[in-house]
Amino acid sequence: MPVVILGSGIIGLSTAYFLSLPPNHLNPTTPSTTTTSTSNPPSTADWQPPEIHLVDPSPTLFRATASGLAGGFLAKDWFAPTVAPLGALSFDLHRRLAEACGGKEKWGWCETEGWNLDRDKGEEGEGEGEVGKGREDMDLSWLMSGSSRATLLAAAGAEGSSQEEAGTHPKWIRAPASAFKSITDRSSTAQVDPMRLCEFLLSECLARGVKLHSPARATELVRDATSGATSVRIEYLDTTTMPTSSDIPSTFTPTRTLDIPCTSLILSSGAWTPHVFNTLFPTAPRIPRINPLAGYSLLVKSPYWQPISSASASEDTNTRVCHAVFTSDSGAGAGFSPEVFSRAGGEIWFGGLNKKGMALPDTPTPLVLPVPGDGEEMSPRMLEDEKAIETLKDLARTLCRVPSTPSSTSTPSAQIEFTRTSLCFRPVSPTGKPYIGRIDPADLGLPADSYSDAQLQVFMGTAHGPWGISLSLGTGWVLGEMVRGEETSVDVGPLAKWQGVASGKA
Ligand SMILES: Cc1cc2nc3c(=O)[nH]c(=O)nc-3n(C[C@H](O)[C@H](O)[C@H](O)COP(=O)(O)OP(=O)(O)OC[C@H]3O[C@@H](n4cnc5c(N)ncnc54)[C@H](O)[C@@H]3O)c2cc1C
Repeated sequence: MPVVILGSGIIGLSTAYFLSLPPNHLNPTTPSTTTTSTSNPPSTADWQPPEIHLVDPSPTLFRATASGLAGGFLAKDWFAPTVAPLGALSFDLHRRLAEACGGKEKWGWCETEGWNLDRDKGEEGEGEGEVGKGREDMDLSWLMSGSSRATLLAAAGAEGSSQEEAGTHPKWIRAPASAFKSITDRSSTAQVDPMRLCEFLLSECLARGVKLHSPARATELVRDATSGATSVRIEYLDTTTMPTSSDIPSTFTPTRTLDIPCTSLILSSGAWTPHVFNTLFPTAPRIPRINPLAGYSLLVKSPYWQPISSASASEDTNTRVCHAVFTSDSGAGAGFSPEVFSRAGGEIWFGGLNKKGMALPDTPTPLVLPVPGDGEEMSPRMLEDEKAIETLKDLARTLCRVPSTPSSTSTPSAQIEFTRTSLCFRPVSPTGKPYIGRIDPADLGLPADSYSDAQLQVFMGTAHGPWGISLSLGTGWVLGEMVRGEETSVDVGPLAKWQGVASGKA
């Protein structure tokens, strides 16, 4: 059962991770495991991991994509009914994985309290989205119109409690206590550093023999005329990272290409999935409809938000939580709804500033901002990026608490520091729901009955929009079950339906 996974974002990595573990290891429906590492999972009689290959053209992997640069906010029950079972499964898997593998330390998994911050009382509750927790659709109008995901709770009528009832509001924000309203407690929302989670998943996969081909891309499916066996032909984009012949002795040739035998193919290339689909299945009648939605973000360090793991000995780390703060922007850059997340690692993520219609690059590339005084003429795109990042920086300067009376003795560490600026793309479907499931051979443009199930099955796991980190582990779990031919732990049947555009128009 060789498996080829195209795309090593958090969806592809989660899938490779669970496929490389014995089935049911970490299953949230069974009592908690006491395993502290999954590098050496418990032996299961007669079980052998399948051969798994990850293919990705990005030389920087999740350092330039949504999976590494996202906010990392996790919710248990903010989803439409058809996505809700997956949302709950995934939230439990995040907790279980963190408990089993030291997630608090390794990727900053932390329970989180959610707050609405009212910066302009007159505009309180002015959510533009119609999305609601418990509604049948998963309309993303909040995302497309510049609102924050907290409108999901507002539309559902979740009242929350006043600050006085809920306890401690985030003290690292410069706002009176009366401006905060608690909207979630620590039992149903959490936070991770998604880049560190991706790094953990990848290192565990590699430790268990998963092969990473990067930077490389799939160019075509190749079929043996006699046996009917299928391979995915991949092309290396940097010859220095090609595998050595001892890695893959039977199939490696000293060229830029490699044919990887494959019976299960998983398309998990985020916003690039339509392109991948079109490349491998050029006769398919339609291509998945997925729109890229760009989002800017910042990482900030503040003297008033210290890492939870390095809390003083007298402080019980279990009593400290991360914060998710949702607000509106009433400043000069008004028109978006900032989302601000404090992380266990001591950073604060600022985002919520999105850009519709921005062209997707051929391969993910890190944000490059103009360097002042370097004499280079700035392109319109660079100017746009610079303006967006300045808007977020202004917001951070306004919101983050700093010493009220800076003096000549103030050290730089008493001020906020910007540690990362970034731009990345979410894959968004027209329904707002992810596409998860096996693709019908007819939709791939393959002749009827040309492939038996044993020869080739193609699956898709993509279009998670603004929720790919939250839904990642559950998606990887159910895709693993599908590849093994098992019934899925939760019903994701409705997510197998996908919308397409006629071939050639993606
Ligand atoms: C600003 C922002 C904030 C967000 N905040 C949150 C949040 O707080 N919580 C949450 O749950 N979600 C959040 N999200 C959404 C989440 O980040 C995404 O849904 C998720 O990362 C998508 O993961 P992915 O693996 O599908 O795609 P990606 O992360 O885009 O990964 C796709 C991979 O496919 C690769 N690829 C490209 N072309 C090819 C090819 N030809 N062949 C093979 N591979 C290819 C890419 O190089 C990349 O590595 C946020 C998104 C953004 C943009």
